[in-house]
Amino acid sequence: MPDEPTRPLSGSSPCFCGSGRKLQHCHKTAAPDSRAAHVYQLYQDVDRAIEEYRTDHQAHPPCAAGCSSCCSDYFPVSQVEFELLLTYMERHWSKAEIQFVFEQSLINVEIFQQENPQMYASLTSRTSQEQELEQIRRYAGRNSFACPLLDPERGICRVYPLRPFICRTHGSSHTFYGSWRERLLPEKVCEHIPNSRAHRKVTPNIVDYWPQYEQLADVRVGAKQTRMRQYPIFYWFVLYARHGGGMTAQIGNRDHFDLPLDEHNARMARHEAR
Ligand code: SF4
Ligand SMILES: [Zn+2]
Repeated sequence: MPDEPTRPLSGSSPCFCGSGRKLQHCHKTAAPDSRAAHVYQLYQDVDRAIEEYRTDHQAHPPCAAGCSSCCSDYFPVSQVEFELLLTYMERHWSKAEIQFVFEQSLINVEIFQQENPQMYASLTSRTSQEQELEQIRRYAGRNSFACPLLDPERGICRVYPLRPFICRTHGSSHTFYGSWRERLLPEKVCEHIPNSRAHRKVTPNIVDYWPQYEQLADVRVGAKQTRMRQYPIFYWFVLYARHGGGMTAQIGNRDHFDLPLDEHNARMARHEAR
């Protein structure tokens, strides 16, 4: 697979909000080659790759409906992915359900501050990518609370069609960047998948999709890629509650959806340079 963004949607493609309607009849101001449209296309591409692998192989990882252990892990997602979640919620959820998730997230962040002060400090301060990754390596783990988008009784994701890239790929696939020596070291994927070497034998390697994901999550102009900060889902809700449209799924600035990706990248690069 080439190391370049996915192809854009077209006006007659199904809209990214999951309405089942065509993009041109649903989110009418959206650009078919927006960042959100590319991310949506990438979701479909990686889903297809995982599904094809599952069809062609008999052995599967133990991930199944109802297992939601990894939904309590600390992991950051990009802003465009969070806004795709909001778009889905706005289309499919009631206002009361949306407000509840914001309220839950405000509680979650208080718990997080108490139980993981080091990671909270990293999360709430300006930090370089290297520093943040180091803090994640040292302090991130499993939270005592699940993602606010999980249905706790049924153990299912309530935004499943628009769940982020990491949620689609964790457990159902693997990536491998390291050396052969590292490859031989078994490590734990989660409590149900104790051995990453065995896991690699029953899942597709999706390493080629990650550069595409990173290009879409970051700002890329020519060869220059500038990383944009990512946050865990519960913290995005807190940020949007405090600085966005309050406890609603409405997005004030729709540039992730309405601008072509190149134009948005150029605009973001100018903003970052200020
Ligand atoms: S978005 Fe869905 S799959 Fe991802 S952590 Fe939340 S509940 Fe789990
Ligand atoms: Zn739509």
